[in-house]
Amino acid sequence: MSDIYSWQQGIWQKLTQNRQFRGHALLLKGKKGIGKYGFARHLAKSLLCTAPTAEQKACGECSSCGWFEQHGHPNFYQVMPEALAVHSGESSEKEESDEKSGSATTKKSASQQISIEQIRKLTDFVYMTGHQDGYKIILIYPAETMNRAAANALLKKLEEPPANVLFILVTHQTQHVLPTIRSRCQQIAMPVPDIETSIAWLKQHAINDPQACLAAAGFSPLSAQQFDQGENVAQYQQFIQHIADSKRLDALSLAEALQQTALSVVVSWLQKWCYDLISYRTTGKIRYYLNQLATIQALSGQFDLLECITFARTLNTKQRLSHHPLNPRLFLEEMFIDYATMMHGSRQ
Ligand SMILES: [Zn+2]
Repeated sequence: MSDIYSWQQGIWQKLTQNRQFRGHALLLKGKKGIGKYGFARHLAKSLLCTAPTAEQKACGECSSCGWFEQHGHPNFYQVMPEALAVHSGESSEKEESDEKSGSATTKKSASQQISIEQIRKLTDFVYMTGHQDGYKIILIYPAETMNRAAANALLKKLEEPPANVLFILVTHQTQHVLPTIRSRCQQIAMPVPDIETSIAWLKQHAINDPQACLAAAGFSPLSAQQFDQGENVAQYQQFIQHIADSKRLDALSLAEALQQTALSVVVSWLQKWCYDLISYRTTGKIRYYLNQLATIQALSGQFDLLECITFARTLNTKQRLSHHPLNPRLFLEEMFIDYATMMHGSRQ
């Protein structure tokens, strides 16, 4: 576990100055890919550490820090959707879920939501387990993935908070966390690094073309790093190749090529592409596809602005639908056919 990110130093000081929180629950909120999860784990580790530094950071040497790093601290409990836990290998439930469904298929079939059973298990953690008296810390990530029943179950716990328990909720989408949960948390807006800081950080991590990666990842440095190292790069390049040549766009083969990529990711690529098309037409500037400026310029005169805006709105709906189980290939075919139709200005 490395140190907290440079852009989090200020909020760290503010939050840890007196080690007293105003409540028993924190809600760390902010866009995806800015290091909220790492910050939350650092906070938990430092609160459990028996010999924190002057900056209130975990010492990294005591037995508590040792347990934490081995993912086995008896006073720390982490709740995340099965799909994320399998992916990150963070959860103690990993093996359990592997056994249930067979590891080869786990990633695909694992739940994207935090279930009520997962929240119910917290009761055992709070009342029956643990080491000595100190703090118990529960990290819920990302909080917006709790389904309705899970959220209501957590709300009950927040309404009658057990002593010496700190809940740390982390969310990318505050508006999707129940208002009644939000109101019971001390809300912390997590800082977003500016572009220069992000690029400097990406350079430190030897990312090729940090500016393009950062833009492609919506200006979140951690997402940009994942993007550069991720399995999606080849698919992303294929996407750009097809989409940039809208006259010859083969919706069916593009859909086939991308059907294994997370649908929400593909939709977001097209959302950003349409954002740039509209933005270039109306302001002469683009935001995301900086390497594709010439292409976007060339396409600029070829589509109807209002139709493009209407199409971009339908992508918002598609983004919501992309999280539900459906036929990915058909979903993508329809989306690319609609895009091609919009760009050709012709009706089929
Ligand atoms: Zn320590």
